[in-house]
Amino acid sequence: ANFHLKYILNKKGERSNMAVKQFKAESKKLLDLMINSIYSNKEIFLRELISNASDAIDKLYFKSLTDHSVTTKKEDYKIFLALDKDSRTITLTDNGIGMTKEELEKNLGTIARSGSFDFKAENKAEDIDIIGQFGVGFYSAFMVASRVTVISRAFGSEEAWKWESKGAEGYTITQTEKDEPGTQIILVVKESTEKENYDEFLDEYNLVRIVKKYSDYVRYPIEMYREKSRQKEKPADAGEDYEPEYESYTELETLNSMVPLWKRAKKDVADEEYNQFYKDKFYDYTDPARVIVSRTEGTATYNALLFVPGRAPYNYYTREYEKGLQLYASGVLIMEKCADLLPDYFSFVKGVVDSQDLSLNISREMLQQDGQLKLIRGSLEKKIKNELNAMKNNEREKYDEFFKNFGRQLKFGCYADYGMNAELLKDLLLFYSAKEKKLITLAEYLEKMPGEQKYIYYAAGESADRLAKLPAAELVLEKGFDLLLLTEDVDEFCLQVLRHYGEKDKEKEFKNISGGELGLETEEEKKAAQEASEASKPLFDAMKEALGDKVTDVRISTRLKSHPVCISSEGPLSLEMEKVLGSMPGAEGEMAPKSQKVLELNGEHPVFAKLKALQEAGDKETLGRYADILYNQALLIEGLPIEDPVAYAQAVCELMK
Ligand code: ADP
Repeated sequence: ANFHLKYILNKKGERSNMAVKQFKAESKKLLDLMINSIYSNKEIFLRELISNASDAIDKLYFKSLTDHSVTTKKEDYKIFLALDKDSRTITLTDNGIGMTKEELEKNLGTIARSGSFDFKAENKAEDIDIIGQFGVGFYSAFMVASRVTVISRAFGSEEAWKWESKGAEGYTITQTEKDEPGTQIILVVKESTEKENYDEFLDEYNLVRIVKKYSDYVRYPIEMYREKSRQKEKPADAGEDYEPEYESYTELETLNSMVPLWKRAKKDVADEEYNQFYKDKFYDYTDPARVIVSRTEGTATYNALLFVPGRAPYNYYTREYEKGLQLYASGVLIMEKCADLLPDYFSFVKGVVDSQDLSLNISREMLQQDGQLKLIRGSLEKKIKNELNAMKNNEREKYDEFFKNFGRQLKFGCYADYGMNAELLKDLLLFYSAKEKKLITLAEYLEKMPGEQKYIYYAAGESADRLAKLPAAELVLEKGFDLLLLTEDVDEFCLQVLRHYGEKDKEKEFKNISGGELGLETEEEKKAAQEASEASKPLFDAMKEALGDKVTDVRISTRLKSHPVCISSEGPLSLEMEKVLGSMPGAEGEMAPKSQKVLELNGEHPVFAKLKALQEAGDKETLGRYADILYNQALLIEGLPIEDPVAYAQAVCELMK
């Protein structure tokens, strides 16, 4: 249910009233979940109202950039919080853009009327933060309030209106008076019951805590008159036995630090704050695997707060997934998802970038051209790479986990764009080692390589278990050499693009164990095989003729022990790559690229003697049929499709007769 819920949430993405409608249609069960979640986290109502207030101020501030009739000075924008225990009210006032009568009706009239407010669920569900993702933000006020009054005056209007509601039954709107544009929201806090304690929201300390917890980075001051106590001045004539006296007074205090998290030094921020920020902002319920804080000055001036998610989003490897970072210009959000800030291979990174060098009113098209943005992108890319490297070196278990989530993307990145980024990414890659039975880096493979080993060996296919049992795999492992078992379709393409790995002039080539010579044979073995091949040249020629362009060569094998035949490949395309490419949409049949196949025969096998006898007897027809059967067998062993299964079956039956 969790997963499913997340799916629907993410699909909608932004908060909108549309999402609520969608949700209701989706299923009653999900609605229950949502209500439960609302119950378990009532205190977020304040965050929702403060965010609305801050948005409303943003709107007026934006307007002031072009509209000179806005006279509010930048430093005068504020949100004011007041608490009155006697009347059980919390009042939140902003001097933002305000709402007209129509807007009050439209914005606040929807759910209250729909009756989805009879919160009645009993059991608590997972603590998923749903409210922020649906358009129920404002309505969360009803979780703690028995009555909500909204008094608002829209900027540019002389009229003020009062919206009032007790929840489910509906609302009223009446005309009222208000001196300044903006909105005031008055909550009458519910009476506590045996089960639920609402009085806690009338506790000043608690309220301040809630503001700090959720709204610390709101850019506008959230002010409140706080009750304080101080020692009275000692009277001049106080005697020896004077006892200090205290008096209480009120003082206006700004509750939030306002400086966004990404502008604060890493040492001043607790891990938990980063994690919470990530989860709130990017709708994840798992802590990030890594937090990247980057502050740069010089050619590209920016603050970035990036996160490597702790798990892959459900749609990560689909077209639906959109990469991008939130882009701010001097603390003002200008783009929700700026794709140009991230290369595809780091598309899993989430986060915020804030730069003072960008103009507020820059358009999407202009951003793409923006030189500053390109500099930032380059700098972020380096930073992300370094952080991943650090994680690999210092927190290997975590990195393994990361790689399971996003390694595929790094491998794609290696291979994409003709390997343009392979250099940058190669040290971040992990592959499964047959010897160590775990993921290792290419550098680690090289480190443990015996002096006489010429290649970095790998086998590619669907199952690691099966790959490790291939005859050639056994040969390699018997020699004490390690073997990388590649089971993802992108793996081999990635290595092909890299071609080799290692220090300059000491690079080792990658070698697919089912392609060509393995470099394992001694000189004598090689010579013997060559001699045997030459001695059987007429046989091989006859078989090649029979098989036509299916194979480029027929020869004696050095990698076969008990089996009569196998297929290997020559040239750039391996058998596994042929399979992967052939399974891609649009590449089936004739269009599919083919590898150059070599039919290898076991010279020690009785079948070989039989073939030889046929050739010597000049029975071309039978030899041709046998060659065909052996070729198809070899394909089957490799897990490759055979061209004409019916003809193959008939040929085998023919033998049985
Ligand atoms: P959301 O904020 O997700 O859009 P809400 O239910 O919280 O959903 O609010 C609905 C709308 O009401 C807001 O989009 C905004 O237009 C308007 N609104 C809410 N609070 C205020 C406010 N303090 N000042 C001006 N408009 C507001």
